[in-house]
This record gives sequence, structure tokens and C-alpha cells, in this order.
Amino acid sequence: MRKLSNDVWISTTKNLLKKREKKKRIKMNRFFVPDNVYKDRIEICKGCVFYFKPTGTCKDCGCFMKIKARLAPMACSQKNGIRQLK
Ligand code: SF4
Repeated sequence: MRKLSNDVWISTTKNLLKKREKKKRIKMNRFFVPDNVYKDRIEICKGCVFYFKPTGTCKDCGCFMKIKARLAPMACSQKNGIRQLK
């Protein structure tokens, strides 16, 4: 069996770790939205009649919007799906 030099061994390991990190990031993106989407969601909620500013919760669903807005599968609790603006 051929022996690998230390440099080859280290670079191969680094490449494998990079690939793993990339896969992990892709998986996490399924659950969390990027910052720009998060900020847009929070802005919409802040302009909504159901938003309760002192606690940062939605009076309709009771969720903490700072958490809910970060989660990709979450949507506005209004049945028609349209966010109520003031
Ligand atoms: S009703 Fe929808 S837009 Fe309004 S605070 Fe709740 S989740 Fe946000």
C-alpha cells in the first residue's frame, strides 16, 4: 500500500471537512431563512395589528416572532395567508 505524504493527508482531510460543512449548511438552510428574509418578515409583523410589541409575540398565534420568523416552514397564522397591515 502506498504511503501518503503528510501534506497530501492534511489537504485531503481539510477537503473532506469542507465538504461536510457545506452539506451541513445546506441542511440547516432548509430550516432557517437567510437574514434578509428574516428582516422582511419581522418588518411585516411589526406593522401588523396582531403584533404585541412589549413581548414581541403575535396576538393571533401566540408565537414569539423573533423565533418564528427565523424558521423557514413557518407562515403567518392568518387563515387567508395575507398579513394584516395597520
Ligand atoms: S398575524 Fe401574521 S403578520 Fe401578524 S404578527 Fe402574526 S404572524 Fe405576524
